[in-house]
Formats: sequence, C-alpha cells, structure tokens
Amino acid sequence: MRYTRSAWSAIFSRCASSAASSDTGAFVPPLSNRLIVTEKTWSQSATRSFSQLGSLGQRRVWAQRPLRTGISAFKTHVKVSMMHTWKVAETSVRIPNTCLRIEAFPLFQDNYSYVLLDDSQHNADRVVVAIDPADPDTFLEYLQQRLSIGQPTHVLTTHKHWDHAGGNSELARRFPGLVIYGGASEDVPACTSPVHDGDEFRIAQSRLLVRVLSTPCHTRGHVCYYVRDAQAPSSAPGIVFTGDTLFIGGCGRFFEGTGAHMLQAMQKLSTLPPETFIFCGHEYTVANLEFALTVEPTNDAIKEKLKEAQRMRADNKATIPSTIGGEQQWNVFLRASDAHWMTELRERKNRFRS
Ligand SMILES: [Zn+2]
Repeated sequence: MRYTRSAWSAIFSRCASSAASSDTGAFVPPLSNRLIVTEKTWSQSATRSFSQLGSLGQRRVWAQRPLRTGISAFKTHVKVSMMHTWKVAETSVRIPNTCLRIEAFPLFQDNYSYVLLDDSQHNADRVVVAIDPADPDTFLEYLQQRLSIGQPTHVLTTHKHWDHAGGNSELARRFPGLVIYGGASEDVPACTSPVHDGDEFRIAQSRLLVRVLSTPCHTRGHVCYYVRDAQAPSSAPGIVFTGDTLFIGGCGRFFEGTGAHMLQAMQKLSTLPPETFIFCGHEYTVANLEFALTVEPTNDAIKEKLKEAQRMRADNKATIPSTIGGEQQWNVFLRASDAHWMTELRERKNRFRS
C-alpha cells in the first residue's frame, strides 16, 4: 500500500520530539597514529518518541523506546521499518597527505552512510559526495548541522538494498541534477551514471579519483568504490567504500551469489594496497570478530582486534575505518582460500549467535 504525505503527517503528529546527546571526546585510533580522527558531541534534534503506533499497513509495530522511522520505496512495495535509533560519536576522518575527508553518518539500526569531501576545495563548486544516503531526512539533517552543507552533489550507491539505495529517488526529486552512480547490472533507483568493473573517473572538478570494483555476491550488481587523491603521491593511502561486501571482521550474506563469488570479491579487494582504509556499510564489528574467534581461536590478531572493538563500542565510538592489511590478519572471510571453505564459513556465521 502507499502512504500519502497526509497519512504520515497524521502518524507523526502523534509523536513527541526529544533531544539526546552523547559524550564529547577526541581520540587517535590504535590502528594507525597517522590517521586523524576527531569526534564531537553527537546530537540528535529529531529523535521521535513513539509510545505506540499500532498497525501500519500490513506490518504491526509496537514501540516503547525512541525510534527512527525508515521508509523506502523498494521496487513496487513501500517498506516501512520501525527501528531503534543507533548512536555513535560523531566521526570525521582525514586521510594524511591527501585531500580525502570522510564524515560517517549513522542511519537506521546499524547502517553507515558517508560524506566524502575533497578538502582542497573551498569554493562554491565543491563536490559533496554521499555514499548510500538511504534516509534523506536524517542524512540532510547531519549534512546541515555538522557541515553546514545544504545538499549532496553526487551519490555513490554500493547496491540496491533499501537501506543503501532507498534514499536515491527522494534525493533526485529534491535536487535535480544530482549525479547518482550505481552498478550497471544492479537495479539502483534514480541511477544517472551506471558504472562497470574497472571504470575510473574523476568526480567533477575535484581531485577525487574513483575506481569501480565489481563485487557480485551479496547482490548481483554490488560494487565497491576505491577512491584516491589524484594529486597525492602514489604512496599516499586510498579509501574503499565496501557496502555490504566487506565488513570489519566479516562479509555480507550471499543473497545473490555463491561462496565462489564472495571468494572472488575478497580476492579483488585484497589486491588493493594494504594501507587502504575501509569504510563499510554496517557496524557489525564486534559480532563478526566474536564469530571469527570461534573459527580461529588461537589467532592473536582477532583477539586484539575484538578487545579494541569492544572498548570502542563501549565508548560509543565507530569502529570504522579498518585497513585491507589489518583485515588480512583478522577477517576469516578475507583469509579464506577456497570457495568450499568460504561457503562453510558463511553457513556457520548465519547460524552463529553472539
Ligand atoms: Zn545489503
């Protein structure tokens, strides 16, 4: 069924507003003292408190705690999701010796969306690249509050799932001319620039140089985006947005592929320089590493990484970014060397409860 604007107004009129904030702090991540990460007070001005919503269409939803509403047009259906808002300390990452700056924005239950900026640009032509901005209202609120930016200029979509691509149509409607990239073999809403494996392009007049890595498995047309500063020395690290293909300590489910496909995807990502920083689509790190420890119980890298991730999450910090070189030590999926073992790992992970 379709929800009209007036229907949603009626629903939201029953909701009280509240504000929340978390701790303030700054830290240098233990993984690399070359990486600059700053954190500021996280605040949410529009957390909506629902006492009881009752039935929304075909899905019955009851809530006792503050929730965020995610609405997404997914093919011909309208999907309504009521989710606990997740919080993470505000995270801004600057990659040393490059123009690359990444702001992490939490969405829904455990999703990350990102904004990528070319820090050498200070003029009106500055590009603002959004990665998987699936909840436009929340995303634009972050953009305005944290960066005083009104709108994105480009969108990089990793894959078609609603919690990654579900904001594309609304953003395209609001901002005519918005350039939206997505895998050519993927059903990405409002895609203006389909991309293929190995494509390389600059984002407008910026120094952001993007290479597309096709990684089919989680979905058939899933792509990752490897980004470098076109004017940085070749030794300067790049970054990769991995969506739901590679997580810190884990990988995505094989919805439209096999163990052989995921093995190929992992091998392709492994060809990136080890210092490449990874920005993934969900905060799943602790559960992934708890599982990894059941697979390789004597692996000290997994033990250390798990302790670090647990400490960070206890402090409400994001565990992104990781690096390709780091993942090669503690990610059992990236360490898999044959398709049979990859399949076995995934099946075990699907059954695993942390
Ligand atoms: Zn997905």
